[in-house]
Amino acid sequence: MKSLIVTRPGRKVRLSSIDTGDDAGLGDKEAARAQLTGDLERLRALQHLLYADNRYALLVVLQAMDTGGKDGTIRHVMSGFNPAGCQVTSFKVPSDEERAHDYLWRVHRAVPPRGVIGVFNRSYYEDVLIVRVHNLVPRDAWELRYRQINEFERMLVENGVAVLKFFLHISKKEQEKRLNVRLNDRTKNWKFSEGDLFERKRWSEYQEAYQDAIDRCTTRWAPWHVVPADRKWARDCVVARVMRKKLESMGLRYPKPLSKSDRARIKIR
Ligand code: AMP
Ligand code: MG
Repeated sequence: MKSLIVTRPGRKVRLSSIDTGDDAGLGDKEAARAQLTGDLERLRALQHLLYADNRYALLVVLQAMDTGGKDGTIRHVMSGFNPAGCQVTSFKVPSDEERAHDYLWRVHRAVPPRGVIGVFNRSYYEDVLIVRVHNLVPRDAWELRYRQINEFERMLVENGVAVLKFFLHISKKEQEKRLNVRLNDRTKNWKFSEGDLFERKRWSEYQEAYQDAIDRCTTRWAPWHVVPADRKWARDCVVARVMRKKLESMGLRYPKPLSKSDRARIKIR
C-alpha cells in the first residue's frame, strides 16, 4: 500500500495537495476487499490478544468533514470485533453539564480501559475545529488547546493507551455527491441535516483548521494519518491496515500460564 499518509513531526503534509481519490495503491475494489478480509481476520485475533493481555488500550480517533465516512468506517472496520472488547463514543454538541467543565472532561471518561479498543466518532479535535471556525470560544482559549491536546495524548500513551488519529479526507465535490444521496435516498435522508450545508459554506476555513490541527498535533507519540477517503474501499483498507500494524507493534501476549507442576496439582472435579 503506497499511500499511507502519516504525518511526522516537522514534516508538513499539505491537505490541498493530497489526492482524495487516491486508491492507496490497491488497484480496484476486489483487491481491496481481499486485503480487508485478511486484515479484519487478523484484527479479530489481535483484539482477543489485547483483551487477554490487559496491559494496553487502543484509542482510534476519527475526524472528517460531514459525509466523510466516519460511520461507514466504524461499520466496516469494527464489524468483526467482539462487542465486549470495543466501544464507540460519538461526540456531539456539548450538553450544559459538559460545557460547565473543561473541554477534555467528557473525553477523558470515554477513553477505553485496558484491554479495550475505543473509537471516537469526532473527538476533542472539534474543540479546535468547529469551535475555531465559529469562534465558540475566544482565540486565546483555542490557541492553547493544541499544546494541551498534545500533553493529554502524551499522558494517555505513557499510561498504556495507544492513540491512532485518522483524518478521512474527502473532496468538496465528493461531499456534494454524498449530500445529494442523503437528500434523495429515503434510506439515507435521516442523515441529512441542513446544518451541514451551513458548514459546507465554510469548507476552506475547515480545511485550514484541519491543516493546523494536523501540523500542530503531530507528535512522536500520536501522529495523524491522512486517509484519502473519496473511495470508501480504499479508506476502509487504510484504516484497517494501520490498526493492524499498531496492534502488531505493541508486543501483545497472553498472560503467563500456570506452571506445569501447578497444573498437575489442580484437580477439576
Ligand atoms: P453529527 O456527527 O452529524 O452527529 O454532528 C455532531 C455535531 O456536533 C457536529 O456538527 C459537530 O461539529 C458538533 N460538535 C462536536 N463536538 C463539538 C464541540 N466540542 N463543540 C461544538 N460542537 C461540537
Ligand atoms: Mg452530521
